[in-house]
Amino acid sequence: MSNAKYVYLFHEGKAEMKSLLGGKGANLAEMTHIGLPVPPGFIITTEACIDFYNADRQFPQGLEEQVLEKVKILEETTGKKFGDPERPLLVSVRSGAVISMPGMMDTVLNLGLNDETVEGLAASTNNPRFAYDCYRRFLQMFGDVVLGIDHHYFEVVLESQKVDKNVYFDHQLTAEDWQQIIAKYKRIIEKETGKQFPQQPIEQLFLAINAVFNSWNTDRAVVYRRIHRIPDDLGTAVNVQAMVFGNMGDDCGTGVAFTRNPSTGEKSLYGEYLTNAQGEDVVAGIRTPQPISKLAEEMPDVYRQFKETCELLEKHYRNMQDIEFTIERGKLWMLQTRNGKRTVQSAIKIAVDMVEEGLITKEEAITRVEPAQLDHLLHRRIDPDAKLDVLAKGLPASPGSAVGAVVFDSDLAEKIAQEGKKVLLVRLETTPDDIHGIVAAQGVLTSRGGMTSHAAVVARGMGKPCVCGCEAIKIDYASKSFRVGDKVVKEGDVISIDGSTGQVIMGEVPMIDPEISPEFQKLLQWADDIRRLDVRANADNPEDARKAREFGAQGIGLTRTEHMFMAPDRIPLVQKMILADDIEGRKQALDQLLPMQQNDFYGILKAMDGLPVCIRLLDPPLHEFLPSAEELAVEITRLKLSGENAEELLEKEDLLRQVRTLSEFNPMLGHRGCRLGITYPEVYEMQARAIFQATAQLVSEGYTVIPEVEIPLVIEEKELAYLRQVVVETADRVKEETGIDFHYTVGTMIEMPRAALLADEIANQADFFSFGTNDLTQTTLGFSRDDAEGKFMHHYLERKILTDNPFIVLDRKGVGKLMQITVEQGRKVKPDLLIGICGEHGGEPSSVEFCHIIGLDYVSCSPYRVPIARLAAAQAAVNNRD
Ligand code: PEP
Ligand code: MG
Repeated sequence: MSNAKYVYLFHEGKAEMKSLLGGKGANLAEMTHIGLPVPPGFIITTEACIDFYNADRQFPQGLEEQVLEKVKILEETTGKKFGDPERPLLVSVRSGAVISMPGMMDTVLNLGLNDETVEGLAASTNNPRFAYDCYRRFLQMFGDVVLGIDHHYFEVVLESQKVDKNVYFDHQLTAEDWQQIIAKYKRIIEKETGKQFPQQPIEQLFLAINAVFNSWNTDRAVVYRRIHRIPDDLGTAVNVQAMVFGNMGDDCGTGVAFTRNPSTGEKSLYGEYLTNAQGEDVVAGIRTPQPISKLAEEMPDVYRQFKETCELLEKHYRNMQDIEFTIERGKLWMLQTRNGKRTVQSAIKIAVDMVEEGLITKEEAITRVEPAQLDHLLHRRIDPDAKLDVLAKGLPASPGSAVGAVVFDSDLAEKIAQEGKKVLLVRLETTPDDIHGIVAAQGVLTSRGGMTSHAAVVARGMGKPCVCGCEAIKIDYASKSFRVGDKVVKEGDVISIDGSTGQVIMGEVPMIDPEISPEFQKLLQWADDIRRLDVRANADNPEDARKAREFGAQGIGLTRTEHMFMAPDRIPLVQKMILADDIEGRKQALDQLLPMQQNDFYGILKAMDGLPVCIRLLDPPLHEFLPSAEELAVEITRLKLSGENAEELLEKEDLLRQVRTLSEFNPMLGHRGCRLGITYPEVYEMQARAIFQATAQLVSEGYTVIPEVEIPLVIEEKELAYLRQVVVETADRVKEETGIDFHYTVGTMIEMPRAALLADEIANQADFFSFGTNDLTQTTLGFSRDDAEGKFMHHYLERKILTDNPFIVLDRKGVGKLMQITVEQGRKVKPDLLIGICGEHGGEPSSVEFCHIIGLDYVSCSPYRVPIARLAAAQAAVNNRD
């Protein structure tokens, strides 16, 4: 371990070394290589951080020597020296994880300043005010980040100095003011830590490195990683870089910019800067910065150079870049570049534009959009024709609309959201400590800060709507309200925000269905050309079927027929059928249901003209169609007490007896699925007849109808053989009665482990298989979904016993193994056996990938997830090329 190379100079690294040097470090190295103006520095590797944790938070052997060696080189390169009173070397120390975690870990600027070097800085810049300002910033940051002193202590001193001097802004304070503040800051440090502020730059440096390593495991960083599914064992690199100053005067500044618009994807430079400011001032959202276009007027040469650099970086990385820069006395310095975070709209537009610009291939474009993010696009948005009571307008920081009760505090937001209520987090600005409030809220509204403020960046990352910098709203935390003109909005009042326009609207706004933009359409077409898996939808009525088709579904993978039985006009007939004493009584009720079912199937099959429609025969236990025993008992008591309607009372008592007879100890494993078909074949016969009569009718009308009749919950070949016969005989009868020939298939769902294990036998009776992974997950894990998710799943996830909720992300190891066995065994008997999935996993990207890998023919999911599945299927094809 002592031989490990823990420290790299910028020119020793490159972009590919990201896992060792962290994202920021690798990109600084790469920019140095390309010849861009990057202040020199070095990177301490993520490996050093991992070894630091392995050694119980001690620096690993050899690290200190290597750092000292590189400091020496840095001193030679810059011609400055740590602690030199005349030409002091000052550095920034920043974290840099492999996967960027904006604002989550710590940064120290101006390191190297002490009582002596500050004088050197004052003399060499001929600007004492600037030098003392740097020193007090350093004391404050170092005190907070490294020594763990609450920043509040420092802020109080600063505020009282301003009050004493009767000024409002920091820049109105003089060099002498800063000197007085410095003396007070040092006293705070001494009082809080029991030690003097460390004057030695090397000591400062090692303390800062230690603090950055430790910041990898702060609560907020851990929460962020959990939300973004970033592994805990990656560690962070530390970047030590010579300081450049954006706060030396009006020919200086600092800013952040995106090479394209991260909200819309529009191809134009997009960003903000602050004149005469340092480091984190822009992202911190304390002063509202100027748009980057203004730089073209204020410093045209710098702007031109900056624009060229942005173009070069975009071409080099072939991706939209998020850039940080500083201007020191008219000279441009690049401090960071990385692939920019963007909304899904922006990701789609940039991917499609870059293909058209010849920068990337279609396959790359497909992988540039996170399928799960598409969810936000496929959601409802504010009706553009609605009359809105617009309260104010802020910056459109993250698109989408959110409605919720106003809450001013993140803890409270979390608490109320846990009770199932929708909240909107409203704050002056957010900080990393608000992360749980943002997670819990539908959207975020801030009164300060620009498009790159914390709230904006984090909300975009989570795909949550955000309006920021809405200065018209005057927030008063004390009275838990905000004011716009003479209107007062209190905690708990419902408002809406539109993150695409920046509007803040009173009350709940009317929403409309989503549409697919032309770029999105194009990307999906490319995905269709690349994917191997077909994508179908689960739909139970003609309207959903049409929606599914619009979204590109290539058929219906599951029509659940039970919902049709629940309609108010049918439930009495269904109950009559269930409660019939004999088969004759049951058949009478079924005869009345038949035309209704036929009409259902007619509508769906017609909507899917030319495409396959898989219709599942009745699945849930019959008692689900009866009133609950408790409700009946209450009703009976009421009737008894009133003594009015004796006949009704008898009827209800009879019903209650039947309900009790039909009730089950464990309905999930009870009298349901094909077990119903075995005991009441006339029910399945009626459904098959309804399907085939609808089919015959549509064929006679000239439609192409492809019905697939599906038997649920099969565990044994003989079950399927018997029910298949019921279906086939019914089809034969309908053909004979109507004189119309039609094609159909009969298959089964694979939802029980036994069915999976005996797939070769079951395949003898099946034209197709469809994985019902909802039930297959329940029965493989022995978890009932409602109990698991309601009671113990979160413990399993928190303890990492399971990495994902298996009802959302397919459990490849267990359920997946059974699926693989099914595919192998089934296709051994019938090589062309059609196999799909219709459990909820069919629209979840990782599960879709697994279905691709094991060779399924299609996935089927809810209509709104069809575009997600199309893209995920294409990514699976690209990422799993043999
Ligand atoms: C399944 O079990 O995966 C399935 C699709 O059936 P249901 O969810 O209706 O039980
Ligand atoms: Mg099922």
